[in-house]
Amino acid sequence: MALKIYNTLTREKEEFKPINDKEVGLYTCGPTVYNYAHIGNLRTYIFEDILKRVLLYNDYNVKHVMNITDVGHLTGDRDMGEDKIEKESAKENKSAYEIAEFYTNKFKEDLTNLNIIYPDIFCKATDNIKEQIEMIQKLEKKGYTYKTSDGIYFNTSKVSNYAKLSHQKLESLLEGARIEINNEKENATDFALWKFSPKDTKRQMEWDSPWGIGFPGWHIECSAMSIKYLSEHFDIHCGGIDFINLHHTNELAQSEAYTGKMPWVNYWMHGAFLNLKDGERMAKSTGNFLTVKSEFIDKDINPLVYRFATFAVHYRKQMEWSNEIIISAKNGYDNLINKIKTFGTDIGSIDQEYKTRFNNDINDDLNIPKAIATFQEMIKSNLTNEDKLATTLDFDKVLGLGFDLIKEDIIPNDIEKLAEERHLARINKDWQKSDEYRQKIKDLGYEINDLDNDYKITKI
Ligand code: AMP
Ligand code: ZN
Repeated sequence: MALKIYNTLTREKEEFKPINDKEVGLYTCGPTVYNYAHIGNLRTYIFEDILKRVLLYNDYNVKHVMNITDVGHLTGDRDMGEDKIEKESAKENKSAYEIAEFYTNKFKEDLTNLNIIYPDIFCKATDNIKEQIEMIQKLEKKGYTYKTSDGIYFNTSKVSNYAKLSHQKLESLLEGARIEINNEKENATDFALWKFSPKDTKRQMEWDSPWGIGFPGWHIECSAMSIKYLSEHFDIHCGGIDFINLHHTNELAQSEAYTGKMPWVNYWMHGAFLNLKDGERMAKSTGNFLTVKSEFIDKDINPLVYRFATFAVHYRKQMEWSNEIIISAKNGYDNLINKIKTFGTDIGSIDQEYKTRFNNDINDDLNIPKAIATFQEMIKSNLTNEDKLATTLDFDKVLGLGFDLIKEDIIPNDIEKLAEERHLARINKDWQKSDEYRQKIKDLGYEINDLDNDYKITKI
């Protein structure tokens, strides 16, 4: 079955057709690095990782770009309030650059722990100020901008269908935008492209520009960097569902105004939220959140249990977090690992019937809950252990549950036998024979470490 994905822009499940034959351009909005990523944020990054792995499984090459928001995201999410990073810098008594670097590194550790494939390009907003200024200059030349006392703004009334991504009536977007009152805006939905540094306080992150010293607005970085790295027309753009009405709507408006062409992006995909109990929002800004460290690493639970837990719910459905989820996901994951260990280490052939079913599941708008059910059925089937292992490893290219690592932990029988022989030789103080066995084992790619009365075999 051909790959179908749900496109927020058309509100339909569509067959995926790349712009270029085999290379897919994928842009996923990255973290604002003023705090740890919470497991809600990471649910979105896991969904995006699944999307990328499904594209790879379908034999596409993927060029994946992710930004790091290290400046310009204000506490009000719109154009009011303090810069989230500068605010945290004062709180933690570190420089804004140190804050951004620290949380970027923590974010990358989360990705590694969750077996999320790194993007080909990580790009920081602060490394691309020139590109953002150039984009604003062109928008200015084309008549899309105006100046207020605190910055340069994008005039949303100048674009023909500002609300097209959200499918909302313009009035309801305007209503949402009125939360932050800024009397100088011509339309409530207008947004800042460039903000001037405040007159009374010195910012750490600020740059000279044709309009005065200041910093870029939150949305312009994604438009500038995606166009820089993926061109003016690319395939897929993703984020969490909260980005539809504001961040992505604004990215879209300014990018198409800038290029003068439509569409800028062919497919928009959004992951639903992970909430706390009773729909309570998990939010970095309020500190009301759980992390991979607090819920998994500190409790000695493999973080891949979290990855597995998210597979129970389709990415477009909201998920509610509870301790019971951790317990049942941990049991489910441990059972899978134990079962896979019984398959041994010999790899047979991928079962084509199960592969077709799995392929149909994942190609149906990433139906991972169904793909997991197919996988569970396969491992309980009467296929040979060798074929089950081959099929498991193949499916794990998409699932990313670390099943390939289990295989490495299993020491093949012939190596175990050689190690026992060597151990016997050592007990008999036959050092020459013992050394010969050690060499033989090494030639086969394993190493022996002697313990008191025992030994340990590891893969080299
Ligand atoms: P941020 O670092 O706050 O800019 O958000 C990073 C990503 O996480 C964005 O794609 C958001 O849409 C997404 N996100 C934020 N909160 C949640 C949540 N509770 N569940 C799922 N995704 C979320
Ligand atoms: Zn973005």
